[in-house]
Amino acid sequence: MSKLKIFLLSSIILTLYSQTSAQSEENFFAEDTAGFYLPIEGKMVYCDSLARICPAYELYRYSWTPLRVNPYGVQLESMPDSTYIDCRDFVYPTVSNRVTSNYGWRWRRIHQGIDIGLDIGDTIRAPFSGRVRLVDYERRGYGHYLVIRHDNGLETVMAHMSRVLVSVNQDVAAGEPIGLGGNTGHSTGPHLHFEVRFLGNSFNPIKLINFETKKCLADADGFYLITKKDTYSNSKAIQQAQNSSAYHRVKKGENLSIIARRYHTTVKRLCQLNHLRQNSILQIGQKIRYR
Ligand SMILES: [Zn+2]
Repeated sequence: MSKLKIFLLSSIILTLYSQTSAQSEENFFAEDTAGFYLPIEGKMVYCDSLARICPAYELYRYSWTPLRVNPYGVQLESMPDSTYIDCRDFVYPTVSNRVTSNYGWRWRRIHQGIDIGLDIGDTIRAPFSGRVRLVDYERRGYGHYLVIRHDNGLETVMAHMSRVLVSVNQDVAAGEPIGLGGNTGHSTGPHLHFEVRFLGNSFNPIKLINFETKKCLADADGFYLITKKDTYSNSKAIQQAQNSSAYHRVKKGENLSIIARRYHTTVKRLCQLNHLRQNSILQIGQKIRYR
């Protein structure tokens, strides 16, 4: 074999080898001089390009956790006065436009989203492109639900589904099926519970979407301007209520983790508020402060 042939053959083998190893390691060792490590969920994660970082990373400061719907703790006062949101890829999330319950106060509890009546099994779609941040099941709350962080900085919560079709950290395109309509969790009929959040704080989805026409209320260029003054006009009372104390009466079979999940808080927080230990036995009828 000539020297040239050996050289060609070995370079082909080398190329093949580097391609397969790059694929199997998900380009972990890709020749990308811009690669760097970032602290994500308490671990140093190698990011070979900005695309590997969580969507809207500048807004959320690399915070990416599958543990809570709102892990950010951003008060309304510290929200930006206004932010443009790119809504050009908006897709209405389901077939029905029948609003059965509005955002706001309901039975002395805060309803952080809007309910859309539907048939069990109806396709639920991602309203914008993004990445699935949380998938969970709450028997007495959201039922089967998920949270998507969208590339445009919004997060949406979709709940009471019969099935979730995607998993955590999965990238989804706008309009991609992410679940099937259902009646799971605390729900009195098949519907989609739909929340829109920015920096963790929900706002009334009718500010963003005309549910009658299924169209996004963005400007002619496809951008929506979130303003603290208008978009969050009816959210101040909600946050005030959230910051005031509230109590739960223990029912049969409930423990601290069940109560924590129901009110979207943690066992640790419940223990602090009620001077309890994590393994404390609860009595039926006992009053537990959850915020
Ligand atoms: Zn609802």
